[in-house]
Amino acid sequence: MLAERLNDLLPQTQCTKCGYQGCKPYAQALATEGEALNRCPPGGRAGIAALAALLQQPLLEPDQSCGVLRPLHVALIDEQFCIGCTLCIQACPVDAIVGASKLMHTVVPEQCTGCDLCVAPCPVDCITMVPVSPERAWTPLDASLARARFESRQVRLAQEPESLRQSTPARAPVAMTDPLAATQGATQAMTQATGNDQAAGLAQTAKQAAIAQALTQALARARARRATHPVR
Ligand code: SF4
Ligand code: SF4
Ligand code: SF4
Repeated sequence: MLAERLNDLLPQTQCTKCGYQGCKPYAQALATEGEALNRCPPGGRAGIAALAALLQQPLLEPDQSCGVLRPLHVALIDEQFCIGCTLCIQACPVDAIVGASKLMHTVVPEQCTGCDLCVAPCPVDCITMVPVSPERAWTPLDASLARARFESRQVRLAQEPESLRQSTPARAPVAMTDPLAATQGATQAMTQATGNDQAAGLAQTAKQAAIAQALTQALARARARRATHPVR
């Protein structure tokens, strides 16, 4: 089915920047409604080229109204300002945030797709998107892992009563004060979860190193920003 093949080419961040509620609806619109193939910023020009090849359509420049093209970013929570409201957890399409009601929350960087969806709901503006350094692109393996996490979340939400969905965090409380420790723990867990797949392990190790460096620098920047603009 064409929509499925198109969906396989999309980055699976579920960011909604294309104007649809996720990658699958956008793929469906591409397949059946003649939607423009240049509406996915996370896919970049390579994504446009892949869609154009499958659809046998001409290349287009990225539609800037959908967002800017940028290298991979990850969300960073400045935990000293987090009030534990869980709104970011509810917004995250891939369950990349851990925490519980009234407890601080932490992003698991390896699982973050950089979709930005947690930033706007945060009532105290303590989530910052930081570029992964050194710069790296979103890979097909990243997309595959994100899709698995998104689909797993969808299954879980479908099984939860509506009342629980609104009031209960996605995960058990955790005690994490060091984002680098969170990074390392998450990498180990992901490696186990993917059956110690060698390719996944190598990719995640590289991502961990890049993210650890970015986190250290970004946390310092975020705290400097807070010192200048304290939350009231
Ligand atoms: S990754 Fe692309 S196709 Fe998927 S939701 Fe975001 S913009 Fe839409
Ligand atoms: S942590 Fe934020 S930016 Fe990262 S995947 Fe979740 S919602 Fe998107
Ligand atoms: S939305 Fe902001 S304040 Fe609420 S739990 Fe998430 S990071 Fe903390």
